[in-house]
Amino acid sequence: MKSPSRRQFLANAAITTGAAIAGRLVPAWGYPPPAQVAITPQLSLLGYSQVQLLEGPFRRQFDQNHDLYLHLDEDAMLKPFRQREGLPAPGPDMGGWYDNANDFNLPDNFHGFIPGHSFGQYLSALARAYAITGSKPTQAKVQRLVRAYAATVSADGNFFADYRAPGYTFDKICCGLIDAHEFALDPAALAVLWRTTAAAMPHLPEKALSRAEQRARPYKDISYTYDETYTLPENLFLAYQRSGDPRYRDLAVRFIEKEYFDPLAAGMNILPGEHAYSHVNALSSAMQAYLVLGDSKYLRAAGNGFRMVQEQSYATGAWGPDETFIVPGSDGLNQSLSKTHASFETPCGAYAHFKITRYLLRVTGDSRYGDSMERILYNTIAGAWPILPDGTSFYYSDFSNTAKKVHYRDKWPCCSGTFPQLAADYGISSYYQSKDGIYVNLFLPSAVSWSQNGTPCTLTQTTDFPRAGTTQFEMKLSRSETFSIHVRIPEWTGAKTTVAVNGVKTAPGVVPGKFLPLARTWKDGDRVEIEFEMPLRLEAIDSRNPDTVALMRGPIALFAVGNIPERITRGQLMAATAVAQSSTDWVVKADAGALTLRPFGLIMNENYRLYLNVVS
Ligand SMILES: [Zn+2]
Repeated sequence: MKSPSRRQFLANAAITTGAAIAGRLVPAWGYPPPAQVAITPQLSLLGYSQVQLLEGPFRRQFDQNHDLYLHLDEDAMLKPFRQREGLPAPGPDMGGWYDNANDFNLPDNFHGFIPGHSFGQYLSALARAYAITGSKPTQAKVQRLVRAYAATVSADGNFFADYRAPGYTFDKICCGLIDAHEFALDPAALAVLWRTTAAAMPHLPEKALSRAEQRARPYKDISYTYDETYTLPENLFLAYQRSGDPRYRDLAVRFIEKEYFDPLAAGMNILPGEHAYSHVNALSSAMQAYLVLGDSKYLRAAGNGFRMVQEQSYATGAWGPDETFIVPGSDGLNQSLSKTHASFETPCGAYAHFKITRYLLRVTGDSRYGDSMERILYNTIAGAWPILPDGTSFYYSDFSNTAKKVHYRDKWPCCSGTFPQLAADYGISSYYQSKDGIYVNLFLPSAVSWSQNGTPCTLTQTTDFPRAGTTQFEMKLSRSETFSIHVRIPEWTGAKTTVAVNGVKTAPGVVPGKFLPLARTWKDGDRVEIEFEMPLRLEAIDSRNPDTVALMRGPIALFAVGNIPERITRGQLMAATAVAQSSTDWVVKADAGALTLRPFGLIMNENYRLYLNVVS
């Protein structure tokens, strides 16, 4: 365990928004110049060290990723950068997408697809892991990697010359270096970022280019038209806020894709046919544009864009079969059930989904963004297999009618970069701070520490949610303090939901789809107990196919496993019961026998199916 003073230092050093920068301690290398930020969201992010996940599946995902990347061979991570700059490049190849190789051949061989593409994400994930854990070996690794990477950056940017996705890889390196600076407290990282930026810019287009625009220009082969320059503004705006250097703000503005955001802001759905993950990721660039520039058009673009994504989502909250947006209300999602196993690009999609819902939740205070985050958490990434030491990764969740979990064909794909970043973000996604107190967004075993009117406060959440529909908070305070605990009451919550403080039920006022404020003078040892009623419900895949339904319990989709009876009724599904009180499996009694249902996170190698066709 870390000492309180050290934790407090990390807490202050780990504040991530420019709006909150004024409140942090002076780092060893002094204050950055002030960054002008137009909007301060009503909810603030907490520092990474302020939220600790406790034992449970999501802590395990974080620990597994942290351990894997802490032990990754550094020469291997740096090899593509050294090779492309003509430097000695000792050590093994990573393999898969990551290598600098010349045998890439669509669609059969993705070896060497984007050399070094995820280096910045591994760096970012390690920096965040250091901020969470205080692990000195992790901090030392980040700082070694920054220095060794810096030695590969040449003024003419050979690395980015004749490179498939210079915007994509630059975006990830930008994120890695600003996180190394902010969260691993590396004073060298910002200077390395500017050298990288200067090296990359001659190899980037003059503005963000859609994939159609890339195809309209000369290109070597189609793989050179997959770049994602439209995702650049988010990290460039963050680089501006963390460095105070207005050149990053100007670059961010340059790469705002007006052709994407203007129609979205006007309510036009231009998503169909676009690459799914990168365009959800781009919505976070709209949010940073809103926060920094203050133009509400970008908030409308992000809010509308996210709603349009939700309008074409599976019951799991996932979207983008074959990585492509469909027309909401068309038969496209239903057709995907028999046409593809690539239902959802899981670690990347969940990472983008968490980011945009965090932004929208913080700005609007609307708890339904938390509901959406929770649905993605339990029904997609919770079921992702861990990345193996050789880069074997989980990529697509399969929600088809003949589904099975598999590893991705290629090693070290994009999802090997986002998974460790996402797992590091579970804590800061769970709680937020406001002027009047703390917001509880996710029901994970965890502890959050913050200062309320100068009083150090800790809320420890103990829960087996969502297997059990209960959660408990216990307060640790050095003295009594008046503030509010705002608890997300999910929209799926039944009317029998109760909230009790120190065993006394609160007056009615539990409204599904809202945060419930618990305002009082809290004292050490106070307890809050919540019992959610989690009624079963059926969700149709879309309005055209009302008899193709998923059985839902709270945020959880229940997947049929094993033999599926020919005939099943709505009434039989709605009469499902837990196999036993401690079991995560549910059972449905159909005419031809029993059907077992299981949450995505508990499915291993068995066949499973999300949607069932019901009669009556
Ligand atoms: Zn991916």
